[in-house]
Amino acid sequence: MDDKALEESIEEIADLIAGSKRIVVFTGAGISTESGIPDFRGPDGLWTKVDPSDFTYQKFVSDAEVRKRIWQLNTTSGFAFDGVEPNPAHRAVAELEKLGKLDCIITQNVDGLHLKAGNSEDKVLQLHGNMQWVKCIGCGARHRFEEVRQWIEGGVEAPDCRQCGGILKPDAVFFGEAMPVRETAEAQRRSSSCDLCIVIGSTLVVYPAGLMPQIAVDSGAKLVIINDGETALDHVAHVRIAARASEVMSLTLAKVKEKLGLDS
Ligand code: ZN
Repeated sequence: MDDKALEESIEEIADLIAGSKRIVVFTGAGISTESGIPDFRGPDGLWTKVDPSDFTYQKFVSDAEVRKRIWQLNTTSGFAFDGVEPNPAHRAVAELEKLGKLDCIITQNVDGLHLKAGNSEDKVLQLHGNMQWVKCIGCGARHRFEEVRQWIEGGVEAPDCRQCGGILKPDAVFFGEAMPVRETAEAQRRSSSCDLCIVIGSTLVVYPAGLMPQIAVDSGAKLVIINDGETALDHVAHVRIAARASEVMSLTLAKVKEKLGLDS
């Protein structure tokens, strides 16, 4: 899109944000690519390096060899997103919370960057979990990924829970694994009661996560989509921008503050 069209769209989004009270921001891989995290499905993505069928829940829990492979991969390839920093798009979303405009963020990402950008934990619904945590599938005990990494570096090949001996698993949703019940129900509830839904960096094709913006629209909310490529809901969006999220969100936030009479 040309500069003028972009500027007009940003103005429009800023107006919508300034006039809204309960904004739901829905994010996918596209918001984190500018932080250097390749889209799993993209040309440099994880699925070009490992077989996605290894990432099924059933294989992980039933095959110790698969568990060893996955732990090895996790601790050597930076899959836990060490040293990855939020970009201006994440920070702009964190600003929305400070402005009192944000109801919640619903994210498909497991990189934890919204929390790192300064959003509070109760505002972030991580539909696919968070790779910074490891969970026991037996008793539910949680450990920091960093802690478990030290066990593995100390020679443990596939760590077991130190409380019950159960299988430890990265706290991200694997293929064939159910979505977290509380987060999913909460995401549906929040989507149905927001007044504005802003989608950033998702093609909205992954089901059921992509359903949330549709619920928002069906419940009368306005929909804004910022994604560098087509999405499944382009036809119902009130404003649609195909450009880099970091640029769009920074410019938009500056405009919002201007409209609210705040210094940027
Ligand atoms: Zn346990």
